[in-house]
Amino acid sequence: MSAVGSRAKSVAYAKRTSHGLVASPLVSGTLRLPGFVNAHSHTFQRALRGRAAGRDFWAWREGMLDEAERQSPELVRETYADTYREMLAAGYTAVGEFHYLGAAEARAAAEAAADARIAFVLLHVAYARGGIERSRQPSVSAYIAEVEQLRDAGIAVGVAPHSVRACPADWLETIGAYAEREGIPLHVHADEQPREIEECLAEHGVRPIELLARCGCLGELTTIVHATHADAGELDLLAAHGCTVCVCPTTEADLGDGFAPAGALLERAITIAIGSDSNVRIDPLEELRELEGIARRQSMRRGVFSPDTLLEIGAAAGARSLGMTEWPEIEVDLGHRSLAGVAGEHVRAALVAGCGADVVVS
Ligand SMILES: [Zn+2]
Repeated sequence: MSAVGSRAKSVAYAKRTSHGLVASPLVSGTLRLPGFVNAHSHTFQRALRGRAAGRDFWAWREGMLDEAERQSPELVRETYADTYREMLAAGYTAVGEFHYLGAAEARAAAEAAADARIAFVLLHVAYARGGIERSRQPSVSAYIAEVEQLRDAGIAVGVAPHSVRACPADWLETIGAYAEREGIPLHVHADEQPREIEECLAEHGVRPIELLARCGCLGELTTIVHATHADAGELDLLAAHGCTVCVCPTTEADLGDGFAPAGALLERAITIAIGSDSNVRIDPLEELRELEGIARRQSMRRGVFSPDTLLEIGAAAGARSLGMTEWPEIEVDLGHRSLAGVAGEHVRAALVAGCGADVVVS
């Protein structure tokens, strides 16, 4: 799907090497690629990077909820637009905002995205229990009504039961049925932390993805965010239902979550997408390199995902997860020092293996 961009200047040919072989053509100009798609972002969490917020995920979460409390429509409108511009500069041309700060802030996030000119899907979160009051709706019907109002306002919306922690089974059933009837994306966090699995087993007698299956929440427009600790049976369910898994490796590393089950997802041909999640880093190439790095460390092999597969994970898979058919392309600077001396046939692999988001032409 990619082609050397119209701004390509020339193709420079390497001289004979010391071994007397003719090297492949080196490249310059730009390479046009589908834009990267950020399938999972909590944009307000960018404010937390570098803060020493506790010793584990649960302690970090306390600091995160304090930051969530501080948000207002005005603050969201301003700071999200800045962060969305950073995403665009890094090559993300579309974002799924997993939003649990309230309806007024949801509209502000959509306005910020329009202002920054990034393609946007609001993954409006259902929150029944736990967390902070501003995230919660009084009933699942109140939640669905909120979603309808946001859709009526012209915002592209997907439903997002926050997690099996935050939503009881009857909420999951109602939301799963609504998503299926409306043909809209359903995103949900699952299996990010072992404690969440233990609590789900204690409450329901099944693991989180098993509960989501039982409640009718798994389908081709379902994205499971993380699935870090999903077991084989849960991954089989995702494969059987054609779900996507959104991995967020830089955040999962930052929070000490664990490793994405990269090889197990690949074996089952489960679609993988990426997300910048807490936005501790905004760099799609780094997310993809982390994913491949995890797969290599787990398998002690190289080239587990092909470069083309990784680029597809970074772009088309995320778009599918957000229910998008069109999103803007990007151009990569082939003259960037990170690509200096790289032969044309190796550029796509070198992008993932050795480049940061600064290769993207702003
Ligand atoms: Zn998340």
